[in-house]
Amino acid sequence: MDTLLTSINKKVKITDEHTSIFANTQPIVRRMKPDTTHQLPLTRLWAPWRIEYIRSIKEDGCIFCDKPENDDDREMLILHRGKLAFVMMNLFPYNNGHLLIAPYTHADNPGDLSCEERSEIMELADASMIIIKKVMKAEGFNFGANIGCAGGAGIEEHVHFHVVPRWRGDTNFMPVLGHTKVQVDGLKESYNNLKPHFDGISLKGDT
Ligand SMILES: [Zn+2]
Repeated sequence: MDTLLTSINKKVKITDEHTSIFANTQPIVRRMKPDTTHQLPLTRLWAPWRIEYIRSIKEDGCIFCDKPENDDDREMLILHRGKLAFVMMNLFPYNNGHLLIAPYTHADNPGDLSCEERSEIMELADASMIIIKKVMKAEGFNFGANIGCAGGAGIEEHVHFHVVPRWRGDTNFMPVLGHTKVQVDGLKESYNNLKPHFDGISLKGDT
């Protein structure tokens, strides 16, 4: 841990808040293949406290079934409603612009979805990444799903896909965002910036 903090300290200024978060939660940083193009190592931060936090405040019911039932898209942070799936902002983001894509069907496994549902999810993911790249100047993405409790799913009953924008050097603030309180004001601001672009998307399946 000390070695880890020392190496991180060389790259970023660590505040007392950062240090206490690291000390209390013992995050694991896995160093991956170096990005020789930009001379910055790519690191993947695993934030186990985040999932515990989500599970601790879990509401009754299923948010991926309940939120689309509500007509107030802004309040529900829903950016786009497709025919078979929808896009919403993650209330517990790993990073600014962290989106979730879920089918309307309540299923815990991608294999239980129809080909049309899976296809639309991929199209929505593609459209989401194009928009975030344009609006937020994202330099890369993590895209995927956590399946089952052991796979790290916060809500395992209803399969959903994460689109997490990445910027070079962003790993130093990710654990801080993941640990601290939900920043709804910031989410609404991002929502307002992204929503007009999501209103304008048309999927291949629409034509
Ligand atoms: Zn559901």
